[in-house]
Amino acid sequence: MKAYSQYMLRKGKFLLLLLAVITSPMTFASDILKDEEKLRYKDPKTYYAQILQLKESAENSHRDQYYWWLLRKAQAEHLLWLPKKFKETVSLTLDLIEPGAPAEVISHLQMFSGIIAQQESRYTDAVKAFKLSMTIAEQEQLNEIYVSAKQELAYTRSLTELFDTSLVGLQEAYVEAFALDNLFLVAAINETYGAIYGYMDEYERSIEYYEKALESYERLGYVSHIAEAIFGIATTYRYWKKYDLAIEYFTLYKEKIAFTPNPEINFYASYGLGMTLAEKGDCVAAIDAIDKAIAQGGFVDYIAELYKRQAVCFIQLEKLDKAEQALDKAAAIFADIPELQGTTWQLEVDKLYGLLAKEQGDTERAYKVITQYYDKYIDLLYQNSSSRLLRVRTSMEVERQNIEISLLQQRSKVKVLEIDKKHQENVQKTYLIFSLLAIIGMIIILMYLQQRTNKKIFELSIKDGLSGLYNRRYIFKHMDRLVQKYHGRGEFAAILIDIDDFKAVNDLYGHPFGDKVIKAIAEVGQKVLRVGDEMARIGGEEFLCICARIDHKQAVEIAERLRECVETMPLYRENGQPVQVSVSVGVALANAKTSESQSLYVAADKALYYAKAHGKNQVIAYNDIADDLAP
Ligand code: GH3
Ligand code: MG
Ligand code: MG
Repeated sequence: MKAYSQYMLRKGKFLLLLLAVITSPMTFASDILKDEEKLRYKDPKTYYAQILQLKESAENSHRDQYYWWLLRKAQAEHLLWLPKKFKETVSLTLDLIEPGAPAEVISHLQMFSGIIAQQESRYTDAVKAFKLSMTIAEQEQLNEIYVSAKQELAYTRSLTELFDTSLVGLQEAYVEAFALDNLFLVAAINETYGAIYGYMDEYERSIEYYEKALESYERLGYVSHIAEAIFGIATTYRYWKKYDLAIEYFTLYKEKIAFTPNPEINFYASYGLGMTLAEKGDCVAAIDAIDKAIAQGGFVDYIAELYKRQAVCFIQLEKLDKAEQALDKAAAIFADIPELQGTTWQLEVDKLYGLLAKEQGDTERAYKVITQYYDKYIDLLYQNSSSRLLRVRTSMEVERQNIEISLLQQRSKVKVLEIDKKHQENVQKTYLIFSLLAIIGMIIILMYLQQRTNKKIFELSIKDGLSGLYNRRYIFKHMDRLVQKYHGRGEFAAILIDIDDFKAVNDLYGHPFGDKVIKAIAEVGQKVLRVGDEMARIGGEEFLCICARIDHKQAVEIAERLRECVETMPLYRENGQPVQVSVSVGVALANAKTSESQSLYVAADKALYYAKAHGKNQVIAYNDIADDLAP
């Protein structure tokens, strides 16, 4: 875990650095020098053409920018499999480069010089260069380069059959590439695994890794890498003795190398086909194919292999002189490459000399050479497949799988956290909605309470506390409204009621009883009046009723009924003694002339006064007495 987080940290720094690196050298018109990865890998030919066009402006620009241009040029040449040009550019840049040049350029260049040394079988130089590249990349936290160089270093070690160190390095590179989440780097490492397992004769696993790499390369569309992986698959099938599959893949490889302008690359296809045919036992075809391949020219160690296979075929065809010539050529090549001394490839030459000696009839020499070969070979086998190596390999497979699993778990943990976060957000949203709803609810309740209070206040302002009837202010306003409404049409009446001898009632039975009488009269009034008629208590024991849509006769009838109901209503003192009260009533009807409520009230009051004056407990209509009152 610690390692993982360190890588993540490194990755973060790496991105910052990459940004700095990308922005710094790009002042002259050259988008192409930016990290045009896609174009570079998908269409290296076009990319290379664009790079070449920039030559002049690169040469005339700032020193660092020129280094960048050279680096990109080398990269394109490498991808296009133009080894001579690639080597030229790399050497030129290495000669030119001065201290203070961008670290990314230097570490890249060191890696490239390592690759060149590796291809030329200068393995010690290659190892040195890759290590230097890694040191610079590590210091500058250039993670991608660091991992690439580490992978190349591991591959180089496998070429000298140091499989255990190779696998340890590759293992580390794999974990780092995985942590960087870099599909391309992971694919490149899988490809290297494919190669190493192939060398270790674990063909099934080799194919498995190559296929993984191929799938990623195809997904990325990186043409040169696709071809490379196909070549690897073909080679493993060849080692596996699945010759037909090998031929199929070598043929496919021939198609896939169309992207490179370098005709020499055909050598590798021819090499593969020649080797496969020879191993298949199709010697006539093989010798021909091998001649063609050698004529095309390629890396010396490949040529040595071709000579060996050709020698075997010549032995089979009993062309022993030619076999010897071929073997001598192979031996000469191996003699030139110290790193290959003692490897299975070199030992095989000895073995073939033994076989040749046997065919030539020199049994003694044959025996000696072959015994020597087997001693050395067994030593080598023991060295390579010792229990230690087996243990290292197995434990590393398990370890890598564990790391993969733990990294995947990390990723899924992050996903779970993300889901948790979403869930939290949803919960928060729900809370928010509920809070809002609660607030809205409270506001509604408060508004309702407020309205109720307002209504109460309003009612209190228009009602009389004792009787529950409207108060004086309200009824006079009501009257004003009716005057406005029925202006000039009459149609409503004022009925004014006053309790007879109420002072005496109070005096005789007490004030509370008087209050009881007031309430009782209010109740009677509300029973007798029609819906829409209004009754108010306008003074101590004085009531005013306003009845709309009414004529004189109806008004008098209602007034009479009121009077009668009061007279007959059952009223008892606390001691059970019945008490009778009466009211006098004055009635006035609005007419065409009524233009204000006060005059109607005055008329009703006059009628009431008249009733009081003429014996009380009676209804008097103003109309009926108007003439009497007239002066
Ligand atoms: P009249 O028949 O001429 O109307 O005689 P009256 O005794 O009713 O005369 P008046 O109108 O002068 O007397 C009104 C009395 O009503 C005076 C007062 O004691 C009493 N009164 C006024 N308001 C209240 C009240 O709220 N409760 C009680 N119990 N008595 C009241
Ligand atoms: Mg009175
Ligand atoms: Mg009175």
